[in-house]
Amino acid sequence: MMTPDDPRSAYDKIFSLLEKHHSWMRETINLIASENVHSPAVREAMQVDFSDRYAEGWPGERVYAGTKYIDEVEILGNELTKELFRAEFADVRPISGVLANLSILTAFTEPGDRMMCLSIPTGGHISSARHRLWGTAGRVRGLKVQYFKYDEYELNIDVDATIRKIERLKQKGKHIDLFMFGASVFPFPQPIDEISQVAKENGSYVNYDAAHVAGLVASDNFQDPLREGADSLTFSTHKTLPGPQGGCIVAHEQFADRIKRGVFPALHSNHHLHHVAAKAVVMAEMLAFGKEYSQQIIKNAQALGQALTEEGFKVLAEHKGFTKSHVLLIEVADTPLRNGRAVEEKLEDANIIINRNLLPWDKRFGRDYIRPGGIRLGTSEITRLGMKEPEMTQIAEFMRRIVFNQEATNKVAKDVAQFRKEFQKVFYAFDTARDAYDYIKMR
Ligand SMILES: *Cc1c(COP(=O)(O)O)cnc(C)c1O
Repeated sequence: MMTPDDPRSAYDKIFSLLEKHHSWMRETINLIASENVHSPAVREAMQVDFSDRYAEGWPGERVYAGTKYIDEVEILGNELTKELFRAEFADVRPISGVLANLSILTAFTEPGDRMMCLSIPTGGHISSARHRLWGTAGRVRGLKVQYFKYDEYELNIDVDATIRKIERLKQKGKHIDLFMFGASVFPFPQPIDEISQVAKENGSYVNYDAAHVAGLVASDNFQDPLREGADSLTFSTHKTLPGPQGGCIVAHEQFADRIKRGVFPALHSNHHLHHVAAKAVVMAEMLAFGKEYSQQIIKNAQALGQALTEEGFKVLAEHKGFTKSHVLLIEVADTPLRNGRAVEEKLEDANIIINRNLLPWDKRFGRDYIRPGGIRLGTSEITRLGMKEPEMTQIAEFMRRIVFNQEATNKVAKDVAQFRKEFQKVFYAFDTARDAYDYIKMR
């Protein structure tokens, strides 16, 4: 099959795999919280000649020629992003959420400085993790990492305990240079304002990593970090914000210079200009449709939480309505499948794509990321396809048939594919001529 002396058959194989992936996506229910599906317009922008060009630097201050149209698109992208996030400064250049975060770490800290964020079991992201874990903050930027105190029942930062911890550290001469809010498992708005006040009294920077919730924040359906005390916001452009894969930063004007330099020259040379074009497109789409889209994402997440509870699942934070974002956390350790990995695998065989997730208390029960006690679900992609509350009941039923009734996966897979037939278009977009998962042949 794929041998180096037969490049043509390898080449053909690549395209057949790509087409297979597209056909499969048409038949699946995707509940991965960090994924979404972009519009045909975003895809069109991603296949333009910008992908073959360089435009190092800032529009108007480039170190390359031939960028006149690229400059205009990038300026539009920045302007639309500023408007969407009600921010004084925007930089659409970071090529990923991790690099947006590292740009901020570069702008606001020096190696050896100290950062406070959430630990991984409480929802934190690897880009904020310690040296020992090969986290970006610890291993790449050389920061010492302290964790926010976490309330496992409320699934949120414990403000009082955190403020006491900051005081204790301060008495030992341990100053926190940067507070990093945000997370990868993130059902409720975080208490930024109180902790930011303490941060400001101590001369610390505050960044909010909105990788997951950028779409909800942009449409003001979750929380408003720049008004609640954050200096800057980093995010991925492909999670609740349904754009191309990439990163972005918005901030108050006073931080613009350092952030620009953190992005370039510190961390990017080529900044993937076709993605810049696609980011500009998604910002325009979100200005027009983001409010309605985000509201439905959250309603769907709450409805799915309710429906799953009725089917016998243990959805966390029931006392608070399960979630105020796109994310649900579910404990599966006492289901017949016993752990998140088994649930993930069985559901995938049934055309339902989710991911396993460590629960805050898993380590105490000797569980790890390989076989954690939980799963994480998100409703961004199914909402983009036009699904509403009634479909959430249907999805919960499919999941119950696999996890509790242990029905044959191929039987449920067929029913899922049938159910998916009606949901092939992207909603909340200006143009939807193509279906969401059309395979576009250009060869
Ligand atoms: C996804 C995520 C990132 C990383 O984003 P990429 O675009 O995948 O590099 C950073 N922070 C958090 C909290 C995330 O969930």
